Amino acid sequence: MASTMTTIPIERDAPIPTWFGVGGGADALARPRTEAELLACLDMDPACRILGEGANLLVHDAGVSELIVSLEGPVFTAVEQLPGCEGEPDSETVIMCTGAGASLQKLVIDSVRQGLAGLEGLGGIPATLGGALVMNAGGSFGQIADIVHSVEALDRTRRKVTLARADIDFGYRRSGLNDLILTTCKLELRRADPAVLRSRLKEVMATKATTQPMGEKSAGCCYKNPTLTRTIEGLGDKDDRIGAGLVIDRAGCKGLSVGGARVSDRHANFFPVAKDASAADVIALMEEVERRVFDRFGIPLEREVILWQRGCP
Ligand SMILES: Cc1cc2nc3c(=O)[nH]c(=O)nc-3n(C[C@H](O)[C@H](O)[C@H](O)COP(=O)(O)OP(=O)(O)OC[C@H]3O[C@@H](n4cnc5c(N)ncnc54)[C@H](O)[C@@H]3O)c2cc1C
Repeated sequence: MASTMTTIPIERDAPIPTWFGVGGGADALARPRTEAELLACLDMDPACRILGEGANLLVHDAGVSELIVSLEGPVFTAVEQLPGCEGEPDSETVIMCTGAGASLQKLVIDSVRQGLAGLEGLGGIPATLGGALVMNAGGSFGQIADIVHSVEALDRTRRKVTLARADIDFGYRRSGLNDLILTTCKLELRRADPAVLRSRLKEVMATKATTQPMGEKSAGCCYKNPTLTRTIEGLGDKDDRIGAGLVIDRAGCKGLSVGGARVSDRHANFFPVAKDASAADVIALMEEVERRVFDRFGIPLEREVILWQRGCP
């Protein structure tokens, strides 16, 4: 694709809003309003980073030098319903076509209200559609991969890419989509009784509220749940996927703190922060927890939270 002459307003030394609410800002941040402006962002910095709701991000205190791109313009947040599956009309199925910057939680609520099943299990997960896809967001009530029909994106050479569900390498909290810039997503939802969906969503939200410190500032779970490579008494059998929170708890880390960051008493995989915390506090706490878990059980915890650091991809 030929280079565009479109220019885009750039904000200098801009804060990067994240759910942690700690850490540095962006040397440069753009909020493209059109696809041409998004292409201009790629021209300016092919290594630009895409910001969703910042619900799974920790930004280093020194901030980041790459261009940060926030897809919050109407072109990237629009939601449209298409009847049936493309090529095979089916009145029980609805294709929801959403911009990658659209709010997942707004979509969950709207779809339940309209009697469209598929998203209700993702209640309470803060995300844009793009962020949810990249992370394959989900939990015990389902994951977004289950309802993806297809995804549209730009690659780093400005090429448009369309991927069907079968072409995407979804796994547990993984999608293989990280190097793309997701722009649109089609979700396949089924017609259902809104009352049933409402009660399901209520159940999901109640479970989250009782097991997780939802009101505190964090990025949700810091670590992916590990799969045991050997049987460990009190934790599980070989090949079991067990809760990272359980492992962190059993390693004696519940309540551990560094500066303004601590391991939650309610859910040991959440590391909530105080107002005066720094990203360095969170990083030091993660390193200490990783060390203790490895020393106690020989389990290398894999981070789910993404660290944005100057000069590090
Ligand atoms: C209170 C709380 C509870 C949570 N509970 C859960 C849970 O139950 N299950 C779960 O899976 N997660 C949970 N999370 C984590 C978080 O909600 C998910 O990881 C979510 O998918 C992050 O989406 P986001 O839009 O905020 O992405 P961000 O955090 O902004 O970004 C995450 C990654 O996605 C990339 N990205 C974002 N948008 C795009 C795009 N359009 N194109 C390309 N790349 C993009 C970013 O560059 C980054 O690498 C929780 C977080 C919090 C704060």
